[in-house]
Amino acid sequence: MTDEGTTLTVACRQVLGEGRGLNEDQLIDVLRLGDEHTAALLALAHEVRMRWCGPEVEVEGIVSLKTGGCPEDCHFCSQSGQFSSPVRAAWLNIPELVEAAKQTAATGASEFCIVAAVRGPDERLLGQVEAGIEAIRAEVDINIACSLGMLTQEQVDQIAAMGVHRYNHNLEAAKSYFAQVVTTHSFEERWQTCEMVREAGMELCCGGLVGMGESLEQRAELAVQLAELQPHEVPLNFLNPRPGTPFADLPVMGSGDALRTVAAFRLALPRTILRYAGGREITLGELGTREGLLGGVNAVIVGNYLTTLGRDPEDDLQLLDELQMPIKALSKVL
Ligand code: SF4
Repeated sequence: MTDEGTTLTVACRQVLGEGRGLNEDQLIDVLRLGDEHTAALLALAHEVRMRWCGPEVEVEGIVSLKTGGCPEDCHFCSQSGQFSSPVRAAWLNIPELVEAAKQTAATGASEFCIVAAVRGPDERLLGQVEAGIEAIRAEVDINIACSLGMLTQEQVDQIAAMGVHRYNHNLEAAKSYFAQVVTTHSFEERWQTCEMVREAGMELCCGGLVGMGESLEQRAELAVQLAELQPHEVPLNFLNPRPGTPFADLPVMGSGDALRTVAAFRLALPRTILRYAGGREITLGELGTREGLLGGVNAVIVGNYLTTLGRDPEDDLQLLDELQMPIKALSKVL
């Protein structure tokens, strides 16, 4: 048997059989597999997802409460105020927020995530989020998630007290690559927010981006660092090089590489919700969503991403129907 065959056999026994995620070295082996193994790898990742997570797919909507003008310098992000990207600072008002939540709920989604492009929230933003959540609650039956940047312990407590069900804060990149991606805050600061969120009892949604010039080893490192945080959900983004950002000229990740990465993340995180986030259209094209959903992914965002157009929600919902993957229902807290 070849070494590559051994990699898949070991992954099958350990992850599928025992539910134990692969370690960093094992993930590097997976990410180095040749294209001829991609189909078998995706099939294994799909089996792992079906066994340890089940057939349901979580559908989420996302809305930007405050867009652009962020003081941070994450090199992939067109919402940074430090680059000459065309995204302008803008705020959404509460009726618009409620309307977005209604439209999201109408797709069958169980999660609605309110996002703001900030380093961390100030009192004004937290006040608006609180008012927004109250207004949504009065009219729409949906779980509310937030993504408002880095938090202090006091802010974590405030957000938990608002009844926020899940908080998103990505690691963005592996620790060893982080300084090449962000210089205005540290990996450790991000990590701290993630830990506080989890300890406060909110579900932690924590992922990152790939295709930013990191090595395969660093991709594997990101996956194990995410696994260490034990997030409820991992959004996996592929770099969509945006004009005006420092990463504008990076090549789009190849589809083989992207699919191997999806499968590797599933093999690192057998029980976690793995969500396709931004960049899947440009990296994987139309077929990518189907291949990902049959290769370890079990959550999708419907509608527009924050600064780029996503697919039509109907396309994704039709695809789930065709694949006979039920949409995860809203779980009621009694
Ligand atoms: S990723 Fe978030 S923190 Fe970084 S520049 Fe963009 S909006 Fe700001």
